Amino acid sequence: MRGFEHLEKELQEMREGGVFRRLTILDSKQGSKVTINGKEVIQLSSNNYLGFTDHPRLTKASLDAVENYGAGTGSVRTIAGTFTMHDELEKKLATFKHTEAALVFQSGFTTNQGVLSAILSDEDVVISDELNHASIIDGIRLTKAKRKVYKHVNMESLEEALKESTGFRRRLIVTDGVFSMDGNIAPLPQIVELAEKYDAIIMVDDAHASGVLGENGRGTVNHFGLDGRVHIQVGTLSKAIGVLGGYVASTRTLIDYLIHKGRPFLFSTSHPPAVTASCMEAIDVLLEEPQWMEMLWDNAKFFKDGLEKLGFNTGKSATPITPVIVGDSVLAHQLSDKLLQYGVYAQSIAFPTVAKDAARVRTIVTAQHTKEELQEALAAFEQAGKELGII
Ligand code: PMP
Repeated sequence: MRGFEHLEKELQEMREGGVFRRLTILDSKQGSKVTINGKEVIQLSSNNYLGFTDHPRLTKASLDAVENYGAGTGSVRTIAGTFTMHDELEKKLATFKHTEAALVFQSGFTTNQGVLSAILSDEDVVISDELNHASIIDGIRLTKAKRKVYKHVNMESLEEALKESTGFRRRLIVTDGVFSMDGNIAPLPQIVELAEKYDAIIMVDDAHASGVLGENGRGTVNHFGLDGRVHIQVGTLSKAIGVLGGYVASTRTLIDYLIHKGRPFLFSTSHPPAVTASCMEAIDVLLEEPQWMEMLWDNAKFFKDGLEKLGFNTGKSATPITPVIVGDSVLAHQLSDKLLQYGVYAQSIAFPTVAKDAARVRTIVTAQHTKEELQEALAAFEQAGKELGII
């Protein structure tokens, strides 16, 4: 069929540049080992931090919910798609995050889009870290607010942006809590200080911190002892929680406003019962089984130390997200391909997701990995890294 020649031309350029990728297809459930192309390999690319995607309590909660409430909800939340369990999950999340209220969206992506597009207008200014997640960038694009971008985690640059932003109804500072490509943590204590000095409000996207940092995985705000001083906390139910969805935890006022103005919330069907019930169970598991977080951090330290000892550049990671930065995008893809050959799945990430000269293979260990698996993965990294002249 004719009509897409211009798109095909672009794809051809990507093929020639060595950056065209096919989707990697898993033929097993998620876990420390997965099956790819008929071969069992060590999984270092999922966000399944705590191994909750197949935690028995979560899968049982899903099955019970399907049996009692069916497969789908048949409506958006604001018409006929709010069941008791949706309300209960939001109450649980608010309690968990130490906030007045919470609201669940279909994904972390739509949460950021929905919140930012709802609360900002041309009377406001939004001040955003340059490495914030795509969903924050897209959310900002949907608003008519004045935009300012500050240098990554650079507090002088943030203060300058705040000083320049006078005469607006509201200033909003927005940052990832943990940056998804580097695994570094946002300097929230300093951001809070600046926000209080300049009377700005703060939104933190804790997609990679919920279930990972803070007491029982409450996130970066709790990790830094800043409960009550950050206005908007966004989280995802798709990573450490192991299921699907996003949420915002904040004041009753903000949540009531989003129920009326959060477009993805208003115009997209609510989560199926299995999703909602298993997310609820996941919060209980976080509170009752702290061993998963302990195992996650123990594994993360073991693996990061191992990579560093081998001579790899792991950047400024301070969380279980550990990048292996190689610079060139083709080299990153070659490293990922070789690792797969040697039994390890670790996805390469290149421009435009990261800077052109900072292509990498990104690894995330989970609580489920055994030390033997991680040792095996380190051996594969050593072999592939030496063959490609990286170490
Ligand atoms: N924010 C950040 C920082 C993320 O890394 C992601 C996931 N890639 C999201 C939001 C989106 O979350 P979800 O996968 O639940 O849509």
